[in-house]
Amino acid sequence: MDDDLPAPELVEVNTKLQRLNIEWADGHASVFPFDALRQACPCTECQGDEIERITKPSFFDIFWQKNRWKDVNVEKAGSLGLRITWDDGHSGGIYRWRRLRELQPPE
Ligand SMILES: [Zn+2]
Repeated sequence: MDDDLPAPELVEVNTKLQRLNIEWADGHASVFPFDALRQACPCTECQGDEIERITKPSFFDIFWQKNRWKDVNVEKAGSLGLRITWDDGHSGGIYRWRRLRELQPPE
C-alpha cells in the first residue's frame, strides 16, 4: 500500500442496490455501480483504463443500469486491491486501491 493512500476500512457488496461500497480510513466513501465498475475492468481485453471517473450513483440509477448482476464475488488481493469475479466468470485482474480511489476521489 502506498504511504499516502488511506487504507480501505470497509468493502461491502450490495447486490440489491447493484453497487460496491468502499469506506476509506480518511472518511471518504466510494460507491461504484456494478455496470460502471465492470466497464472499468483492468484487464487488457476490456481496456477499462480508458475510464477516468465513476460517478457516485443516485438511488434511482439502479433502474437505468443495463445489467442485473446477481453473483458478484469480491475478494481482497492482499494489500494490492480487489479481485472481482462477475456473473459470467470474468475476472480480469486486480482493481488496485489507488485506481479505485482515483475513479471516485473525494469531492
Ligand atoms: Zn476484463
